[in-house]
Amino acid sequence: MATDYFGVLGLAREASDADIKRAYRRLARDLHPDVNPDPEAKERFQEVTRAYEALTDPEKRRIVDLGGDPFETGGGAGANGFGGAGFGGLGDIMDAFFGGATTRGPRGRTRPGRDALIPIELELDEAVFGTVKELTVDTAVLCDVCAGAGTAPGTHVTTCTTCSGRGEVQSVQRSFLGQVVSSRTCPTCAGTGTVIPEPCAKCAGDGRVRARRNISVKVPAGVEDGMRIRLTGQGEVGPGGGPAGDLYVEVHERPHDVFTRDGEDLHCRVTLPMTAAALGTTLNLKTLDGEEELVITPGTQSGSVLTLRAHGAPRLRATGRGNLVVHVDVVTPTRLDGEQERLLRELAALRGEDQPESNREAQGGLFSRVRDAFHGR
Ligand SMILES: [Zn+2]
Ligand SMILES: [Zn+2]
Repeated sequence: MATDYFGVLGLAREASDADIKRAYRRLARDLHPDVNPDPEAKERFQEVTRAYEALTDPEKRRIVDLGGDPFETGGGAGANGFGGAGFGGLGDIMDAFFGGATTRGPRGRTRPGRDALIPIELELDEAVFGTVKELTVDTAVLCDVCAGAGTAPGTHVTTCTTCSGRGEVQSVQRSFLGQVVSSRTCPTCAGTGTVIPEPCAKCAGDGRVRARRNISVKVPAGVEDGMRIRLTGQGEVGPGGGPAGDLYVEVHERPHDVFTRDGEDLHCRVTLPMTAAALGTTLNLKTLDGEEELVITPGTQSGSVLTLRAHGAPRLRATGRGNLVVHVDVVTPTRLDGEQERLLRELAALRGEDQPESNREAQGGLFSRVRDAFHGR
């Protein structure tokens, strides 16, 4: 059956080319192996990349539009279709990143280290303007006594006698089908083909030791909650002194008292007395860049939205900044004293508002709009 490539990208069949591009970019930003070490994310990334290719390559798109599957080559090859022409060597990049396929024969003592993930908490202004954070990382580093070899000074690895250096042992079983020869990883050397007769005293033959170290992480301006900063080669050193994995620093943004963040925009609320909203005023508004004058025009309504351009968060990997969006709440006064009440009554009388009409009779009020919607007008 043909795969629903629109569905893979979370799109409906009517999606435009721009929609496809946008959906793919959004998904790739979360799933790309450079930012997301999760193996499941890698699979998803391959899926969405394939869907993107199927929908944007004219030849493949023609097959999709005819109800076929451009990656289905018959004989059930679908699962291996990824990595074909047009991917620009992406498969190779994946293999380099994830260690690639397993090979037969003895495997080296030296293996790549794992990636590590460290969460950091940032204040809003640190995330918006960028910062440098000092982190203490507790990780595996190269053993300085044996330099990763795992052997005591002056000694060497020797060939494993159980498997004669092949890394695997074979066993022969008789069954009603005849002799079945099966091979499995050598239990003595764990497949490496060598043993360490005298392990290094410091690392017990592992080639690495645990250590704490301090690193500084440059957080770029505009990072958002949940984003990961990749520090190449700052993860743990592999067994046998193998190349270090990467360290991912995951950003967590602390909630701010005044501002809430929506991508590159910041939002805040201001409350205004009814009189100030009616007469207009100028507020000194605290922003992340310091105080700014905010002009309230006479007759401002509760629920109005004012925008301070370029007072939001910088755009990551682009120029410019988002906006600061100010939501206005107009406050009706409570607990009026005698004089205040008299003045308000006088104002109401002057404006002819001392006997307000109910919704039922009001022209163009909320009630009539609701009624119009009801009758489909
Ligand atoms: Zn050592
Ligand atoms: Zn062995």
